[in-house]
Amino acid sequence: MLLSKIKSLANAYKEEVIANRRHIHANPELSFQEFKTAEFVESKLKEVGITEIEKKATTGWAALIKGKNPDKKVIALRADMDALPIIEANEVPYKSQNPGVMHACGHDAHTASLLGAAKILNEVRDDFEGTIKLIFQPGEELVPGGASLMIKDKVLENPRPASIIGQHVMPFIPAGKVGFRPGIYMASTDELYITVKGKGGHGAMPETFIDPVLIASHMIVALQQIVSRVANPKIPSVLSFGRVEALGATNVIPNEVKIQGTFRTLDEPWRAKAHEKMLQIAHGIVEGMGGELDFEIRKGYPFLKNDPELTARSMEAAKEYLGEENVLDLDIWMAAEDFAFYSQEIDGCFYRLGTRNEAKGIVSGVHTPTFDIEEDALEIGCGLMAWLAVSELSKA
Ligand SMILES: [Zn+2]
Ligand SMILES: [Zn+2]
Repeated sequence: MLLSKIKSLANAYKEEVIANRRHIHANPELSFQEFKTAEFVESKLKEVGITEIEKKATTGWAALIKGKNPDKKVIALRADMDALPIIEANEVPYKSQNPGVMHACGHDAHTASLLGAAKILNEVRDDFEGTIKLIFQPGEELVPGGASLMIKDKVLENPRPASIIGQHVMPFIPAGKVGFRPGIYMASTDELYITVKGKGGHGAMPETFIDPVLIASHMIVALQQIVSRVANPKIPSVLSFGRVEALGATNVIPNEVKIQGTFRTLDEPWRAKAHEKMLQIAHGIVEGMGGELDFEIRKGYPFLKNDPELTARSMEAAKEYLGEENVLDLDIWMAAEDFAFYSQEIDGCFYRLGTRNEAKGIVSGVHTPTFDIEEDALEIGCGLMAWLAVSELSKA
């Protein structure tokens, strides 16, 4: 039976997947600079005997594994390959050899898992019908997102996948378990850059200046009401300002104040309306209080929606693979992921691979200098991905 065959191959290839993960972890590259990682991926695919490989978006790959009747259906599996500008604090044999750059989001695990899945799928290609498209993408961590560039470079064409499945490590879920969420799952993210220009002066003489500090203060409070008074309470929205810069002194009012923040939500029409509303409110305040405004909204990733049917089928398949008790329901997660670009184009399922091991102290969150994974999880990381792809191919 195919399920047990895939499981035993995942077990057999586990050490190799771990070794590949360690190699990638030790040699991290920043977003859109994944040249050596891409070379490594290409060499591993070729080593396995996968020859239909096409370069996409400079440092990305699309590769095909054809089963019997290859035109029947196409399913895509996606991994991201980039690392973060973080100094690794872990003292491990596979510690980053590239100072200041670290795989602190588990993309090393995603790439190694997909390479493992590729090896498994290529070996069982006579046991399934259809085609599996492997997508190794650059730049998940940096706007405009490698996924958007891969799509521009036609990764979802020729052949077009019916759906796409992506996997991401989750340090809050114990190794051995995975998590899914049908429907809306992760937020859109937009960066806000505001400059309020006034006219500075001596703090003792308010009649001589236009105070940008006061204008900015009103603006922060007023904009917050977008979330409490304008947003539909059924759509999660969050507005946070993390940087306010007014370089005056106790008795010096500065000429300008800079504010930076983030807006996140889970609905595209509301996202567009919220942008409009924020500009309107900010301009209204500046108009009423004097001064000038420069308000830039840098659009990031869209919100991530998991197709409900595809995700339900994938959860069922995961339960067959891991047992019911090891497949968890996830809550909404207000971080963003560029997998969302794919899920806006075709049916998508983005699920979480548990990588926590409290006994070993592997508990740090992603994007921290002490982030690491329980590597035993990689056996599931490669095997489950392969199984999800073939079981989705087997469904009409
Ligand atoms: Zn990340
Ligand atoms: Zn990530």
